[in-house]
Amino acid sequence: MKTKVLLIEDNDGDTRLLKDLLDTSSPGRYKLISTETLKAGITLLTNDDFDAVLTDLNLPDADGINIVTQIQNHNESIPIIVLNGQDSEELALQVVQSGAQDYLVKGQGDGHLISRAIDYAIERKRIQQKLSYLASYDNLTGLANRLLFRERLDRALIRADRFETLVALLVIDLDRFKKVNDSLGHDAGDRLLIQVAERLKTCTREGDTIARLGGDEFTIVLEDIRNIDDVNVVSEKILNLMKEHFDINGHDIFMTPSIGITIYPIDDTNAVHLFVNADSAMYEAKDNGRNCYRFYKTDMNIDLIEKMDLETKLRRAIKNEEFILYYQPKFNVHTHEAIGAEALIRWKDPEKGMISPAVFIPLAEETGCIAAITDWVLQEACKQNSEWQQQGFKPIRIAINLSPKQFSQEDIVQRIFNKIICSDLAPKYVELEITEGALVEDVQKGTEILNDLKKWGIHISIDDFGTGYSSLSYLKKIPLDTLKIDQSFVRDLMVDSDDAAIVSAIIAMAKSLRLNVIAEGVETAEQLEYLTTNGCNEVQGYFTGKPVPAEEFVQFLIKNSDVSHIRLAHSA
Ligand code: C2E
Ligand code: CA
Ligand code: CA
Repeated sequence: MKTKVLLIEDNDGDTRLLKDLLDTSSPGRYKLISTETLKAGITLLTNDDFDAVLTDLNLPDADGINIVTQIQNHNESIPIIVLNGQDSEELALQVVQSGAQDYLVKGQGDGHLISRAIDYAIERKRIQQKLSYLASYDNLTGLANRLLFRERLDRALIRADRFETLVALLVIDLDRFKKVNDSLGHDAGDRLLIQVAERLKTCTREGDTIARLGGDEFTIVLEDIRNIDDVNVVSEKILNLMKEHFDINGHDIFMTPSIGITIYPIDDTNAVHLFVNADSAMYEAKDNGRNCYRFYKTDMNIDLIEKMDLETKLRRAIKNEEFILYYQPKFNVHTHEAIGAEALIRWKDPEKGMISPAVFIPLAEETGCIAAITDWVLQEACKQNSEWQQQGFKPIRIAINLSPKQFSQEDIVQRIFNKIICSDLAPKYVELEITEGALVEDVQKGTEILNDLKKWGIHISIDDFGTGYSSLSYLKKIPLDTLKIDQSFVRDLMVDSDDAAIVSAIIAMAKSLRLNVIAEGVETAEQLEYLTTNGCNEVQGYFTGKPVPAEEFVQFLIKNSDVSHIRLAHSA
């Protein structure tokens, strides 16, 4: 199939030259259609399908970056390559930042170069779109993800007010899903989730939202409900559809759901409370022998009491110093030096033993004691780093995870800074890891906070990059130093070509924005090699070093002082 390219260029000579170059280098590969004005170009784009646009930056009816913006406004999925007479780094960067995929200087390069630029631009655009899809949809099932679910729920509540209707929120959990995962493997688990998603789709009406929040947790937002009985009907339908067996790799699997339901505005008017309600109701369904649905009832809030108990325990843990920090090295792939460490908290509960931060951090966020925990982590990690420097080790940067919940805290900057000052550590040796979610809620406020932090010399990284918005336009606005590629992409790098493409796209994106890039969750030599070859200069993961207590971390610092003899930790 020919690649269909629209050329917007008012100089006849340039148009002819480009046609000739492409005809000679790749005869028959491109179908080039040209026009002289932006207006005509946009009309062609609207009425016809093109694979890419090549455009001059000086047209009779428009000029400059504005051209790129206008094309995008009319067709946001078309790859754009800018052709310009001016060989300017700065302009090229601006053009790419405004959303074009490439910038070519007229008269430089031959047909092969232009042909490659077109092909790459198409590929790059495809990956960017994939990234923005990932920001709202669950990659596995194609259902809405948590972010989109929250948006849709908020929207549904507003509509329900306007039309005086009800909204039902269903939380669905698969009974004993873990057993399938454990006995048949992740792959089988994934297949099952996909099939469940397919079945759920058949139970709802257009306008309803089905989401997968992660694992085997699904939610459904049913809109335009006028009668609770409608909700009963849908729930029965789900139970019935799930009675049929699933065929997974030749195995007949039976899977039942437990469904919790809450109704807006009868049970509550706050989206977060509604979710907690539906969740409690879902547990009630599980307690009632599973494979059933339960509506939320006010006395289900025993759950909340348990949370209060946990809050007391967390506060006690802070007081009794039941927390410890582990440190995981971040390596420069070229010098093999540990250039930094991420502080990762661990909780040693006297009764339950080690509790993972993945469990208690969300609870701490919910109950509001996260601020006290962050204070402690900051203080402890900075103090530790300062001690290492005093002991004469080569200085490294210490990274601390900042909870998105804290970003709205009024005194956050002062609070962070106070802790650093107290520790005697220069702020340039402190790095804060923040997820995209924290920033996009209020980009302006976020930008102000980050600007303040950066003024002190604190290093800013975007954690779990790729799982959130990943949009160039907001990345340009906020002051950053590093993008940290989420471990989910690194995990399947060698088996999933989409993930590999995303990783290299993120690296390229970081470069075009002049940001540093680090990959986390690197577990194998192959992943390390792929990352290095694709231009990622820093890595973190079990392959180069697991999180360890401070005493053990010293081994990495010792190696740093004599790097000529060592390779990365694995081969030492
Ligand atoms: P995160 O910030 O994405 O941290 C990386 C997590 O991945 C850590 O888990 C780390 O132990 C793990 N990890 C590192 N390398 C590899 C690898 O090669 N393979 C695999 N499979 N995993 C790897 P951890 O320590 O359990 O922390 C989980 C999450 O808890 C963190 O995710 C972070 O969001 C949160 N967290 C941890 N400590 C703190 C803290 O002090 N404050 C806040 N607010 N959150 C924290
Ligand atoms: Ca982190
Ligand atoms: Ca992370």
